[in-house]
Amino acid sequence: MVKIQAALRFLGCIFELILIYMMTPHFWQGSKAKFFKKDLFFVTTPWWLRKLFPGCIWDIKTKEKVIYLSFDDGPHPVITPAVLEELKKYNAKATFFCIGDNVRKFPRIYHRVINEGHAVGNHTMRHIDGWKTNDEIYFGDIHKARSYIKSNLFRPPYGRIKRSQLKQLIRFNDLPVAKTRKHKVIMWSVLAGDWIATLDPEKCFQQIKKAIYPGCIVVFHDSEKANARMSYALPKLLEHFSSEGYIFKKIEADIGK
Ligand SMILES: [Zn+2]
Repeated sequence: MVKIQAALRFLGCIFELILIYMMTPHFWQGSKAKFFKKDLFFVTTPWWLRKLFPGCIWDIKTKEKVIYLSFDDGPHPVITPAVLEELKKYNAKATFFCIGDNVRKFPRIYHRVINEGHAVGNHTMRHIDGWKTNDEIYFGDIHKARSYIKSNLFRPPYGRIKRSQLKQLIRFNDLPVAKTRKHKVIMWSVLAGDWIATLDPEKCFQQIKKAIYPGCIVVFHDSEKANARMSYALPKLLEHFSSEGYIFKKIEADIGK
């Protein structure tokens, strides 16, 4: 009887873990989602997912009409300058989560982003997946990216980070990456889905439009993969929400204090 109870408890735990895994947006985006509808993802991050990772910042509490735009995976020599030009038209500021290796390749673009008043954040050196990487390698990669990206803001590639890694990043401890500064782990409230090649650009824009609320953090990508949808949706979004009285701000280093 005791053995049966233990076995049931064990099965319950496995089932719970599978459910938690299925709740993450990248399960639905990844190749493991083949059995399900392709390209299904959460435009707005659901409350229960936010609860699973309370140490992360998902949005900024405010009643003011503010949108926090963010761009991942750059800098790119052509796409990032085009984004900067578009933002300039509306005096919009944004946050760029850069890949260290791209900053190494395109330092001028990186400095242009900063000189034009935007924020930058660390998105690891080689865009690595926290779930598939042991802590030593993961923190080593973030640490390496820090020699190129001067920021305490961090966004995990694919949004995948183990809870143990998250804990270490947001606290002071003796790991090299967290030695000097606490990190602010910035997730998002609105996913553009701009990386999905089959997503119609107009649909991409309409989905974001519906999901936006004061203080939300929106994710775009300044990458080749996302450009067709991002370069269509971004100007429309800036135009539409500016006319509604919204302003666009960067994420400050002391956010969440
Ligand atoms: Zn990324």
